[in-house]
Amino acid sequence: MANPMVDDVRQIKEDNPFESMMSRFDRAAQLLDLNPDLYAVMRVPNREFKVYIPVRMDSGRIEVFEGYRVQHNFARGPAKGGIRYSPDVTLDEIRALAAWMTWKCAVVNVPFGGAKGGVVCDPHQMSLGELERLTRRYTAELIDIIGPEKDVPAPDMNTNEQTMAWMMDTYSMHARHTVTAVVTGKPVALGGSSGRREATGRGLLIVINEAAKRFKMNPPTTRVAVQGSGNVGGIAARLLHEAGYKVVTLSDINGGIYNPNGIDIHQALAHLQMTRSFEDFPDVERVSNHELLEVECDVLVPAATENQITSQNADRIKCKVLAEGANGPTTAAADQILHEKGIFVIPDILANAGGVTVSYFEWVQDRMGYFWKEDVVNERLQDIMVASFNDLVKYADTHSVDTRTAAYMLAIDRVAYDTRMRGIYA
Ligand code: NAD
Repeated sequence: MANPMVDDVRQIKEDNPFESMMSRFDRAAQLLDLNPDLYAVMRVPNREFKVYIPVRMDSGRIEVFEGYRVQHNFARGPAKGGIRYSPDVTLDEIRALAAWMTWKCAVVNVPFGGAKGGVVCDPHQMSLGELERLTRRYTAELIDIIGPEKDVPAPDMNTNEQTMAWMMDTYSMHARHTVTAVVTGKPVALGGSSGRREATGRGLLIVINEAAKRFKMNPPTTRVAVQGSGNVGGIAARLLHEAGYKVVTLSDINGGIYNPNGIDIHQALAHLQMTRSFEDFPDVERVSNHELLEVECDVLVPAATENQITSQNADRIKCKVLAEGANGPTTAAADQILHEKGIFVIPDILANAGGVTVSYFEWVQDRMGYFWKEDVVNERLQDIMVASFNDLVKYADTHSVDTRTAAYMLAIDRVAYDTRMRGIYA
C-alpha cells in the first residue's frame, strides 16, 4: 500500500492539520491492513465546495468572502460537521476537520458521516447585520448540498446558536417550509436540544471521570489545566469545577491565568463575560497560552485551537492525562513524544465527541417532533461517552497500540466495514 506520509512524521509540515490527520490515518490503515480499494476511497474527501460570498457591508459596499464546505464521507449516514468563521480558515484545515468528523462519529457510533465548513472572515470586525447577511448567502450557496438527509451543519469557532437559526431560516425559506433538522446547535425554542450547549464540555467531564477512575485519581486532588474559555473550554472548566476538580488554569486568545491551588471558575467566567478579558482577575498569576500548557497538572485540556502541542513543546508537557477538547490540538509529530512520556491521551475524536452526540440527539428529536428533558439527554450522552471510552481502551489494549492510534483504527474499521457492505459504486 502506498504510504508516503507515515514513514517519518517529521517530514510532514507539522502545522498542516490535514497532513497530521493523514499521517495518523495512514498509520492506522497500515496496522489494520486495510484493503487497498477501501484505502483509496477512504483517504480522500467525497466532495469539496468552494464558494464566493458577496455581502453588502454596512458601508454600502459589496465585499466578497471565500467559503468552503468539505463533505468527507457519507458511508454511515448524512455528513455532519460545524461551520467556523475565522481569518485563518484554509481549505486544508477544513479538509482535516471534515475527516475528523467522520472518524469522530464512527468512534461514538452515531449514524453520520463527516463534513466541515468555514468562511475566511474576521467576525470580530463585523456587525451583527453583516454576519447575518454573510450566513444567509453562504447558506444559499450550499442549498443543494445540505439538508437533513444530506449534510447537517452545526456551530464551531465563532459561530453560535444565532448563526444556526439564520441558516435554518434561510434553508427553510428556500424549501418553502420549516426544516429544523437541517442544522443542529439551534436555540432550544427553535428545535434545539436541551443540553446541546453544554454537551461538548459535559462529554469531556465524562471521559475525564473515566480516566480518573482508571488511574485512581480523586477530583479534589486532581489539578486540571484548561486552555480556552469558549463553548468547550469555559463549559468544561465550569463542569469540572462543579464536580470538585481543582481547575488551575483558564485562558482566552490573549493569555491565561494560573493558581496552583485552584481558581473559582464561576468568578473567572463572570469576570471574563463582564470585562471581556482575564486582566485584573485577582489572586492569580498571568501565563501565556504556551506557558499554560507546561504547568504542573494531572489533566491537561487544550480546548482552544489546533497545533498547540507540537514536537517543540511536547517533552515539556507534565500532565498524566491529556483530554483533547479542541480538534487537532496535538500534531502528529508530538504523538510519539507524549507516548514515550507515558501520557494517557484521550484523543479529540473521542474527548470532544459529546457535541456531535447531542447534535445527533437534536437531529433525532427534530425529525420526531418530540423533545427530551435535559436529564434524558445527559443520561444518554453519559451512556455513549462511557461505552466509547471503554471500547477505545479495550481496543488499545487488545491491539497493543496507543489510544490515538486505537481511536483511528476503531473509526476506520467501522467506516471500512460499512463501505465494504454497501460496495464501492465504481
Ligand atoms: P469558541 O470560539 O467558543 O472558543 C474558543 C476559545 O479559544 C476562546 O476562549 C478563544 O479566546 C480561544 N482561542 C481562540 N484562538 C486561540 C489561539 N490561537 N490561542 C489560544 N486561545 C485561542 O470555540 P469552541 O466552540 O469552544 O471550540 C474550541 C475548539 O473545540 C475548536 O477546536 C473546535 O473545533 C472544537 N470543538 C468544538 C465543539 C463545540 O461543540 N463547540 C465540539 C467539538 C470540538
